[in-house]
Amino acid sequence: MRRGPRSGLYTIVAVHSTVRGPALGGCRLWSYADSRDAVADALRLSRAMTFKAAVADLPQGGGKGVIMRPTGGPLEGEARRAALLDFGDSIEMLDGRYRTAEDVGTSDPDMTVISERTSHVTGLAVERGGSGDPSPWTALGVQEAIRVACERVWGSPDLDGRTIAVVGLGRVGGALARGLSAAGARLVVADVDQGKHALADELGADWTDPASAIRAEVDVLAPCALGAMLDAESVPALRCRAIAGAANNQLASEEIAERLIEREIVWTPDFVANAGGIINIAVELEPEGYAPERAEGRVLAIGDTLRTIFDDAEAAGTTPLAAAMALASRRLAAASAPPPAASPGAPPA
Ligand code: NAD
Repeated sequence: MRRGPRSGLYTIVAVHSTVRGPALGGCRLWSYADSRDAVADALRLSRAMTFKAAVADLPQGGGKGVIMRPTGGPLEGEARRAALLDFGDSIEMLDGRYRTAEDVGTSDPDMTVISERTSHVTGLAVERGGSGDPSPWTALGVQEAIRVACERVWGSPDLDGRTIAVVGLGRVGGALARGLSAAGARLVVADVDQGKHALADELGADWTDPASAIRAEVDVLAPCALGAMLDAESVPALRCRAIAGAANNQLASEEIAERLIEREIVWTPDFVANAGGIINIAVELEPEGYAPERAEGRVLAIGDTLRTIFDDAEAAGTTPLAAAMALASRRLAAASAPPPAASPGAPPA
């Protein structure tokens, strides 16, 4: 945690794990009541990134960056640039243990500014040799997760005629809503930003407020705003059969996964469903360099990962959250285990 000399703002980098590779995680530009809340957010999100990368079988660890923006307005112009350069210096100090990317509040032009101070930046614009905005890839992965959740509930992944509530029409939610609409789903959408109403009109979707959208009588709920939407108050009021969305940390606490099972609602672990963005970024780091065709196949593989997780959960009589965590833990343990000792007489490696 550093107070940036140019901006005077706190920049925070949390490195949760480098066991499977450098810690990858987006840079969140957000305002917090207190710097301790910002640190807590970075730590919580970095842990989720470790599990997300491990479940997706990427050679990456988990990290997260936070730039604590002042309350009372967006950070723009020279002040924004100063904060991004300060954040770049923070990354550079970690010597490659952390790689940044976009997250809530940052976009690819911001990554270009950060890259003035460090090379440990992913998600640069395609014309700069990067993999570009991860959000459409995250949306593609979430749509695949929704298909697999539907398959689990109704025996078919077909989205034609399904009713789906998308809460949060930002970069991911907006792209997801377009994809779902193109696949024939009927949508209920909500956002705190009234400016997103135009997208609802364009897609012929029903516009409502976020609280009503969460409780709407639909087949699937897709939380695509911020976290902790599913809690002791909202879960009893849900009227959907499945949940899959982009938002990180959707459950207010881990025991909410049990409440969802009791309500016979199929919940897709968020860090599995929303891995499309980092899967796309990881393609950037492959020896052959970035190619969208390879990225698409890797992102759609989220579907098979989910099928494994749902099967494991059913076999073990546990929640999909527990099964996903177990899969990630197995992979983390395998990566951190010392190599087996050579048996006497074995040829040298
Ligand atoms: P974004 O900032 O572009 O969009 C978020 C949207 O949610 C905005 O339109 C905002 O107005 C709306 N919103 C905020 N609070 C709300 C509320 N209480 N009710 C309804 N709408 C609300 O962010 P994004 O990049 O689309 O990310 C959305 C979520 O997905 C975040 O939780 C993010 O961490 C997660 N995520 C994003 C990516 C990615 O590739 N962008 C990848 C993985 C996870």
